[in-house]
Amino acid sequence: MRWPNALKAESLRCSFCRKSQDSVSKLISSPSDYPRAYICNECISVCVSVLEDDRGSSETSDANVEVADEPHPLLSHPLASRLLAAVERWVRQESLGIDSAEEFAEVRDIAVRLMRAPGATK
Ligand SMILES: [Zn+2]
Repeated sequence: MRWPNALKAESLRCSFCRKSQDSVSKLISSPSDYPRAYICNECISVCVSVLEDDRGSSETSDANVEVADEPHPLLSHPLASRLLAAVERWVRQESLGIDSAEEFAEVRDIAVRLMRAPGATK
């Protein structure tokens, strides 16, 4: 992958899709600034739909389910924190302009396992 050498650009960009802050409605930054990574609302939507695909099979509820108090069940999935950690490493590599093929492979691997795993893994 070849990213243009434009890290000095002043406008912030999503570390996933590289859209600039101006072209998305929300850009969320990583909790740590070492190095700072960003994700936009569009990429978050994609992540959420990927995660929710896993639930879809066992639930036949209508599209707009408002989850009130309970945390998302996938958040308590044992692989969820590993997936997030892998995504974080991937974003970090990407934001540094380092080849992130390995990190991406790990993200993909964990995501596949998470989606295949039965709901109640201990
Ligand atoms: Zn994005």
